[in-house]
Amino acid sequence: MRAQKNLLLFVFTFACALGVIAGSYLAGTWRAREELRQQGQRQLQLMAPDLQTLLQKYETLPFVLGFQPDLIEALAHPSDAPAITRLNSTLQTIQQQAKVGAIYVMDRDGLTIGASNWDQPLGFVGKNFSYRPYFDAALHGRAGRFYGIGTSTSEAGYFIAQPVYRNGTAGGPVAGVVAVKISLADFERTWRSSDDTIALADSSGVIFLSNRPDWIYRSLHALDAATERQLAHTQQYTGQKITPLSGHADLFVTQSVGQLGWQLMLFPGQSRVLRAGVQWAAAAMLLLACAAVSSWALHQRRRRLEERMASAAALRQAAAELDDKIVERTQQLRTTNQHLESKYAKLQETEHLLRSTQNELVQAGKLAMLGQMAAGITHELNQPLAAIRAFADNARVFLERGQGEQVAGNLGHISEASARMGAIIGQLKGFARKDETVATVDLAASVRASAFLLESEFRRHAVALEIAASDGIRVTGDSVRIEQVLINLLRNALDAVETAERRVVVIGLERDGACALVSISDSGEGIPEQVVAHLFEPFFTTKPSGKGLGLGLAISSSIVQAMNGQLTAHNQVGGGARFELRLPLQTEGV
Ligand code: ADP
Repeated sequence: MRAQKNLLLFVFTFACALGVIAGSYLAGTWRAREELRQQGQRQLQLMAPDLQTLLQKYETLPFVLGFQPDLIEALAHPSDAPAITRLNSTLQTIQQQAKVGAIYVMDRDGLTIGASNWDQPLGFVGKNFSYRPYFDAALHGRAGRFYGIGTSTSEAGYFIAQPVYRNGTAGGPVAGVVAVKISLADFERTWRSSDDTIALADSSGVIFLSNRPDWIYRSLHALDAATERQLAHTQQYTGQKITPLSGHADLFVTQSVGQLGWQLMLFPGQSRVLRAGVQWAAAAMLLLACAAVSSWALHQRRRRLEERMASAAALRQAAAELDDKIVERTQQLRTTNQHLESKYAKLQETEHLLRSTQNELVQAGKLAMLGQMAAGITHELNQPLAAIRAFADNARVFLERGQGEQVAGNLGHISEASARMGAIIGQLKGFARKDETVATVDLAASVRASAFLLESEFRRHAVALEIAASDGIRVTGDSVRIEQVLINLLRNALDAVETAERRVVVIGLERDGACALVSISDSGEGIPEQVVAHLFEPFFTTKPSGKGLGLGLAISSSIVQAMNGQLTAHNQVGGGARFELRLPLQTEGV
């Protein structure tokens, strides 16, 4: 459907273009013809007076000749040979001076008695021209004018004739006729350079002078019978068959000249008309091509503009959609955020709960540990206490005996023993503290304090405790909790070596990169493979009930993690377990 429409449009446009080109051609030729017509008219207007002048120049010559005594004399005495000779000589002289074709004199019968060309083979003397109209006119006292081909010379010419009066008196009886023949050949010669066809036709439409030789003695239209008869009678175009000119150009300009009804005609060259038409058509084609190209460019431009507008609209729509999406998404995010915030609040609550629970747990673990240590501590306190009593009893005896020196010695021992008890109790008091206090912790001191609290236990079980602690290693945290971890690890080590042959626990302290490393190695059997995975799980224990709760390592691990540290365990190559506690070293200036 669309293709058909396009085809129709194309055909229509093509037809229009053809029409415009054809119209331009016609307009071009019309204009050129018009121009040529005007040009021709101007040319003819210039040419016609020339011809007119040429014809008029000799108008009076025969009239004047009519009064020549030689002519009158000869006509009066045609058989007077000297008179005829004088006549011929006069005519010849005048002809040469006036530069005309010929001058001749005829008697009343039309017989030529004298002529300027008397001495030439085709001279007129003896010829009769009574059939020529100019002779007839002059014989009747009028001026005779005629154009025709000479019957003797076969040369065309313009003849002017005047009567010769017998007594030399105008209006008197006519003795004869004098005629002058003028050649128009020179005039015609000036036309030869012209591109256009120039022709001179007589009143009956017969062309007798032209720059195109094939046009001469042709008629513009078919001659009627009367005219043909007339031509035959006057022998105007002696021996020439007048045929109509066929296919001559219709475009010509004409100007009448002279007194014989002549028409001077100009046929401008058709090629110029044609060329103008073709030029106009070519210009139209060029214009059409320009129009086509510019309309195509315009069309392209409009299409591009439309496309750009469409894409801009699409972009706008996309932007609007994006805005909508952003609004929607923002709303969603806000909702999610609110949701998260409430979740976070709940989480914080839970964390708080967990922390307090954890604190409770740590405290519980600590108290449990104290419980476990109670036997050892009791023993530790009992020893100095028994010693104090013994020293006091002995002092009393020494006092009774008046041995003051021994009393003083015993009192010194009592003081020493009570100081030791004070130290033990002090440690326990500090350890039982519930609150967390974060401060700088000297790890060597913590190691020693932990060892001190378990000293009696180790001794009781005949386990050697070796301490290899470097001084000056400090971390940030709660010393009590660190000691809680160390005591827990030392107790586990003690339990592990209890049944072993070699009973050694080594506690080391050193720097390990940015961390402080506390290691507790024992000479026990190591951690069984099935236990490794569950080591730090709460309530995991391999010990008989009453001895272990399975909370020690779980609590220790959580304490260490809270201080950004790490608690790991592995078995040593030579046997026994090794626990490693890493805490970040206190940075300089803190
Ligand atoms: P508990 O000491 O109450 O059992 P822990 O959490 O302290 O609880 O220890 C968990 C378990 O890890 C112990 O039951 C024991 O089997 C194992 N364990 C801990 N320390 C050692 C060690 N030094 N050598 C071998 N096994 C150990």
